[in-house]
Amino acid sequence: MSAATLLRDVFGFDAFRPGQQEIVEAVVDGRNTLAIMPTGGGKSLCFQLPALVRDGVTVVISPLIALMRDQVRALREAGVEAGALTSGNTPEETDAVWEALEAGTLKLLYMAPERLASGGTVQMLRRAGIGLIAVDEAHCVSQWGHDFRPDYQRIGELRRVLDVPLAAFTATADAETREEIVQKLFDGVEPVSFLHGFDRPNIHLAFAVKDGPRNQILNFAAARKGQSGIVYCGTRAKTETLAKALADAGHLACHYHGGMEAEDRRIVERRFQQEDGLIVCATVAFGMGIDKPDIRWVAHADLPKSIEAYYQEIGRAGRDGAPAETLTLFGPDDIRYRRQQIDEGLAPPERRAADHGRLNALLGLAEALRCRRQNLLEYFGEAPEPCGNCDLCEKPAEIFDGTTPVRMALSAALRTEEWFGSGHLIDILLGNMTDKVQQRSHDALPTFGVGKDYDKRQWQAIFRQMMGHDLLRPDRERHGALRMTERARPILRGEATIELRRDTIRAAKGSGPKVRMLVSEEDAPLLSALKAKRRYLAEQANVPAYIIFNDRTLIEMAEKKPTTLDQMARIGGVGAKKLESYGADFLDVITGAVEEVHPARRKLAGRDEGAIYDQLLEAQASLTRGPQGLDKPMSCSASMLAKVAQMRSADMDYLSRVIGDRYTERFGEAFLEVLAGN
Ligand code: ADP
Ligand code: ZN
Repeated sequence: MSAATLLRDVFGFDAFRPGQQEIVEAVVDGRNTLAIMPTGGGKSLCFQLPALVRDGVTVVISPLIALMRDQVRALREAGVEAGALTSGNTPEETDAVWEALEAGTLKLLYMAPERLASGGTVQMLRRAGIGLIAVDEAHCVSQWGHDFRPDYQRIGELRRVLDVPLAAFTATADAETREEIVQKLFDGVEPVSFLHGFDRPNIHLAFAVKDGPRNQILNFAAARKGQSGIVYCGTRAKTETLAKALADAGHLACHYHGGMEAEDRRIVERRFQQEDGLIVCATVAFGMGIDKPDIRWVAHADLPKSIEAYYQEIGRAGRDGAPAETLTLFGPDDIRYRRQQIDEGLAPPERRAADHGRLNALLGLAEALRCRRQNLLEYFGEAPEPCGNCDLCEKPAEIFDGTTPVRMALSAALRTEEWFGSGHLIDILLGNMTDKVQQRSHDALPTFGVGKDYDKRQWQAIFRQMMGHDLLRPDRERHGALRMTERARPILRGEATIELRRDTIRAAKGSGPKVRMLVSEEDAPLLSALKAKRRYLAEQANVPAYIIFNDRTLIEMAEKKPTTLDQMARIGGVGAKKLESYGADFLDVITGAVEEVHPARRKLAGRDEGAIYDQLLEAQASLTRGPQGLDKPMSCSASMLAKVAQMRSADMDYLSRVIGDRYTERFGEAFLEVLAGN
C-alpha cells in the first residue's frame, strides 16, 4: 500500500502535516535520516508509517515507558501489530511480543534503551529480521544535555551490527546536540537532515503582569471550565495551594511536584492521561512523559526560567492541532528570583552569562511591544509575519517614548551609588519624604522629585520593564539593589532611545481573558455530546479518551455533522479500523443529538451515573415498542432516567415508586439489570 493510502486508512489523516511527507519518503527509501521537529509536530507518524510500508520489523528506541505503551495502544487500536518490551510489561505481555516476533507478524517493536545492554537482546534482534531502527528523543544521546541516557550510546553499535537504516527524531535543535547525534548514531556520516519549523500556530500566546495572580489564574481557568490544562508554578507549595483554590472553585484539579511519593506522582500522571478536563498544578517536574495530545491550555503562575523552557512548556498544549491557549504571568519578583537562581547556581561563568541571555530573551518576549510569535520565532531563527493569534496582535500595546523616565531612573540609581531597590528609587523620583530619604539626605539629590509626571504604579511598570530589557539588574551581593548594566549606557548618554509599553495593569483589569470556544455556540452542545460518548467508550475500553478520537476529530464531526458512514470516513482521524469500531456510535450521537444532550443527562456528565444513564437509555431503546416490537411506543422522560441512574440499589417496588407502574411494567426488569451490572 502507498504511504498516502496508509495515512488515510490506518491513521485516518487526510494530509501530511508540514514536513512529514519528505521525512516519510526518506525513511521509506531506507536512507539514514535525522529529523528535528517541534513537539507535537507529528514525529511518530514519520517512523510508524514507513514501518508499515517497509518489509520486516521496525525497532523503536524510546526513553519513556509510558509514552511507548501509549503509542503501542494507539497503534493496536488502529489495527497495527505493535508491541513493546519494557520493564513495565507483565510476563504475558512479553510472551505475546516474542510470539508475534517469531511468527513474523509484528511490524513495530518498541524498546527502552536499557534493553540494549543485554547481549541476548541484540542477538534476538538479529534473528528477528529488523529492517529499520527508529530513535525517538535522539537528543538523549548527548552527554551535555539534560536528558542524557547512557544506554543511548549503544544504539550506534546496534546499527553497525544490524546494518539497517536508522531514523533519528528529536525536538532539540541546537547545533552542538545535532553534531553529537551525527557522531554517536551515524558514526559521523551526515544523514539526510530535516529541520522543520518551530511554529505552533494553533497555540495562542499571551502574557500578563501579575496583579492578584491567584485570581488571574482562577479567571483563566473559569473561562475554560471542563478543559484539560496545566498550571506551572514556581514552587511546590504553590502547586498545592493553587490546586486547592481551583478545586474550591469547582474544577477538577490536583497538584504534582518532585517532592511527592513516586506512586502519588504516577496516579496524577495516569489520571491526567485518562480523564477529560483535569487541571494539574505542577512544577516543571511534570512534563517529560506527558504525551496527552488534547491539553487545551497551559498557564504559568510564575515566569519560566528561560525562553527554551517557556517554549517547551507551552508546547505541551494542543498537540492535536486544535486551538489551545496559554497565559504566562510575570512580575518584578519573578525577574529577581530567576536572576538570583542563575547567580547562585554552580555553573561556570560562561554558562551563567548564557543563562542570563536566555532569561533576557524570555523577558524580551514578556515585555514585547509587537507580535509575540514573531518575537519568539525570531529567537529560533525564523522570520515570520505577525500571527494574528497572540494577545498583542489582537490588542496592540500602547507604546510611548520612555527615554526620559528611563534616564531619570538610571540617574536615581547611579546617584545613590547603586545601593537601593526600586521602592526607594521611586520614592526619590516622586519626591516622597520617607524616613529613609531623610536619614540619607536623598532629598538633596538633583533627581529628588523629578519624576512627578508618573504615579507610583507607572514607575513600578517602568522599573519592571527596565529589568525586563536588562538595563537594571538586581545584585545579589547588595541584597537585590539595582545596578545599571552596559546595555543601559547608550540610553544614559543620550545615544539611544527606548520605547516602553504603557502599563497593562489597568487595561487588564475587568476585561479578563476572552472566553474561547472550540466550535461555534450552535455546535457546542453537539461537541459536548460527542465528548460524552467518547468518555463512555473510553471508560468501557479503559483507555484515555483521545485514543478513541482526538479533540480535533470531534470538532470536525461537530462542524461537518456527517450523517452516513461514508461521510464519517471523510473526517480527519477516522481510519478504517476506527470507523468500524466507533463510526456508528458517533453517528448515532450526531443524528440523535437532540435527545442525547438533555440537561438531565448533562448534569451526570463525567460521573458513573452518566454511564449508567446511557445504558438505561440503550436498554429502553430496545423496548420502546415492547419486547416483541408490537406495542404502543413508550419511553421514560430524561429526568426519570436520571433519577433511576442515581439509585444506588433498587428493587421493583422502589422503582415503581419512582417511575410509576406503567413504565416499570415495560422497562423494570431491563433497568434493574443495568443497575445490578454497575
Ligand atoms: P511529536 O512530534 O511530539 O512526537 P506526535 O507524533 O505525538 O508528536 O503527534 C502529535 C499529534 O499530531 C498526535 O495527536 C497525532 O495523532 C497528530 N498527527 C500526526 N500527524 C498528523 C497528520 N498528518 N494529520 C493530523 N494529525 C496528525
Ligand atoms: Zn501575534
